[in-house]
Amino acid sequence: MKNTKYVFVTGGVTSSLGKGIIAASLAKLLQERGYSVTIQKLDPYINIDPGTLNPYEHGECYVTNDGAETDLDLGHYERFLNIPTSQANNVTTGRIYQSVIDKERKGDFLGKTVQVIPHITDEIKERIQLLGNTGEYDIVITEIGGTVGDIESLPYVESVRQLLWELGEENAIVVHLTLIPYLAAAGELKTKPTQHSVKMLMQSGVNPDILVCRTEHHISDDIKRKLALFCNVKKEDVIESLDAETIYDVPNLMYNEGLDSVVLDKLKLSSENKPILNKWNDFITRHKNPKDRVEIGLVGKYVELQDAYKSIAEAFIHAGAANEVKVNLHWIHSEGLTPENAAEKLKGMHGVLVAPGFGERGIEGKIEAIKYIREQHIPFLGICLGMQMAVIEYARNVLGLKGANSTEMVQNTPFPVINLMEEQKSITDMGGTMRLGSWECGLKKESISYDVYQKELIEERHRHRYEFNSEYLNDFEKAGMLATGKNPKTDLVEIIELPEHPWFVGVQYHPEYKSTVLNPHPLFVAFVNATLTHKKSLD
Ligand code: GLN
Repeated sequence: MKNTKYVFVTGGVTSSLGKGIIAASLAKLLQERGYSVTIQKLDPYINIDPGTLNPYEHGECYVTNDGAETDLDLGHYERFLNIPTSQANNVTTGRIYQSVIDKERKGDFLGKTVQVIPHITDEIKERIQLLGNTGEYDIVITEIGGTVGDIESLPYVESVRQLLWELGEENAIVVHLTLIPYLAAAGELKTKPTQHSVKMLMQSGVNPDILVCRTEHHISDDIKRKLALFCNVKKEDVIESLDAETIYDVPNLMYNEGLDSVVLDKLKLSSENKPILNKWNDFITRHKNPKDRVEIGLVGKYVELQDAYKSIAEAFIHAGAANEVKVNLHWIHSEGLTPENAAEKLKGMHGVLVAPGFGERGIEGKIEAIKYIREQHIPFLGICLGMQMAVIEYARNVLGLKGANSTEMVQNTPFPVINLMEEQKSITDMGGTMRLGSWECGLKKESISYDVYQKELIEERHRHRYEFNSEYLNDFEKAGMLATGKNPKTDLVEIIELPEHPWFVGVQYHPEYKSTVLNPHPLFVAFVNATLTHKKSLD
């Protein structure tokens, strides 16, 4: 049983400062010093989870092994730490209130008036300590979403204040991430917004222990001194966080600035073992020194907001480094793709990924893109909806099933080649009801998939309601589209391939969620490799 210590990460001045990356980088450094670390994200919105959110609102919905639909920051945590997260790693205000209200209905509060303080704050404190109480971790890093001063963040800041008091200063500290804006006209970095945000924290009774200052320019000693004086911290506790070339540079930048050692000193933990970042740095070297370059099209309907495909973009970075090539991603809107312009829009692509998604918008464009790359023998990876669209394209254009579709799009389609899973038919609620999380998939020996994974049974994460309609499987297989991966218990089709094509793979699951810096996903690695082979075949 470990004596778990807590690091709270708050944000000031603006949102989007990269609290998730700072938290993940700190965790990485502590992990590579030999500490067991996990990270948790508290989100102050009222949705129970981001599963029902439109990706335009909040970017990608990340899925854990245990089937939690979570904030995309959990993806960063897994990619950096190389260990899986779970439901306990992401908590929202909605979930907190739901649980308090459920307890109230059960009569657990014994006639008391149920209030934000103490009932909501107690629930928040319990959720924060849930991971610590497992006894598995030396350090739990808890990132508080939102910006200090937001009304909705108040119960979280109050919970942090109480925990700091209860746990004692050697067991819990606050890292406040803030922005030091640069005024070009004055040629100056400005500390005032940070002073105000720290004041706001202090009004809630929380004194930050460490300031991490996001900045576009180097922060001089004078400015550090000024920040220290007005924000009640020591000068060495003011950490500069310069804009980085890639998020994967941030652990090294934080190490050079001493963030991890300051944290360890404050928590009275040894900083004797230095972090071992050899493998991490090997990855960065390969990432920054590619020997070749491939052009890959990502066809999706949320491409205006690239965060909607965060894990896919990161998986390409990992797979590019593994192949020592630069993957140049082209974001292609599926809505504008037509039979007339598909060739033009996909010109020069050495491979195309068709992205996951929900609903009708943009699906005909995805189908057109797939027709073109199937016919032109361009490597293809279809993920979830992307796989389903490959099935529909093949049904329409090869099997001659005119009007074939998914019942998600057209309920009375004459050829429902993709239809609702049996267990989904009685479900009416949208939230948390899909087929979620890790499921097994058995692979056929003679297949690209088997070559990629090198084993017969794999586990991948899912998030879908619809599936390949196996009534049509015989027809597909006769025509040349094979189901090379199936759920061993239910026979649900997990992978389709076209052996006649150089590299055509569609997967019902989401490989992108499991790709990490130290374990690039083999399917992405193989796909990037296939695009490189395709490029070379054109030379
Ligand atoms: N909308 C499809 C389904 O529910 C695909 C989901 C996805 O791409 N994640 O089955």
